[in-house]
Amino acid sequence: MLPDLEEFRSRTQAVRARIAAACAAAGRDPAGVELLAVTKSHPALAAELAAQVGLRAVGENRVQEAVDKRAQCSAPLAWELIGHLQSNKGRLAARCFDRVQSVDSAKLLEILDREAAALGRTLAVLLQVNAGRDPAKSGAEPEEAPRLLDAALACRNLRVDGLMTVAPLSEDPDVARRTFARLRELRDALASASGARLPELSMGMSGDLEAAVAEGSTVVRVGSALFGART
Ligand SMILES: *Cc1c(COP(=O)(O)O)cnc(C)c1O
Repeated sequence: MLPDLEEFRSRTQAVRARIAAACAAAGRDPAGVELLAVTKSHPALAAELAAQVGLRAVGENRVQEAVDKRAQCSAPLAWELIGHLQSNKGRLAARCFDRVQSVDSAKLLEILDREAAALGRTLAVLLQVNAGRDPAKSGAEPEEAPRLLDAALACRNLRVDGLMTVAPLSEDPDVARRTFARLRELRDALASASGARLPELSMGMSGDLEAAVAEGSTVVRVGSALFGART
């Protein structure tokens, strides 16, 4: 069940307080960490709640689910795809999303770029990297990232904002922290080799956002801490 607006407001404040504490510990400005509300599996009302507390954007992991909710939601929100994207959904994704965080292949880049060109728009993307080398996670392998970035930078209708990762599930909090550190190091190496700024690091969720902020996250993707458990 979704929280009411008052409860949602207090959960949002609690998550913001966690981000602020992690920023204070790391000597960072909390304004440099965006809270992306992950509305997947919740009704369109979840996105309305996010808009009502002033959040800029929501994250969804399925293309069709986002298309349906977006049609029901009148709030001025940006919609971002954070889940694995199959190439046969690429065209629809380029139409429906303001940013696609889960680009992990040259083939997807080509499809998104072509569709963005057809729509006469620039589509923002992040490259998803499997920085934790988790066989259960999608994302390009770290070794593939330089070639993927080159291909992305050659796409005239895409704007590459940075990198995204999902840490492996683990009892050991150091696993997430090391994964996030690896993504930051990879971003730094790619930025200096390519000259692209790659300002965004999308990393951290409800359970591991402190480790992500400590390692330089600029976007934390938070679902359950805001909306409750998904059924
Ligand atoms: C579901 C999901 C999240 C949010 O996870 P919570 O643990 O509910 O905060 C973040 N990122 C991705 C890619 C997801 O699929």
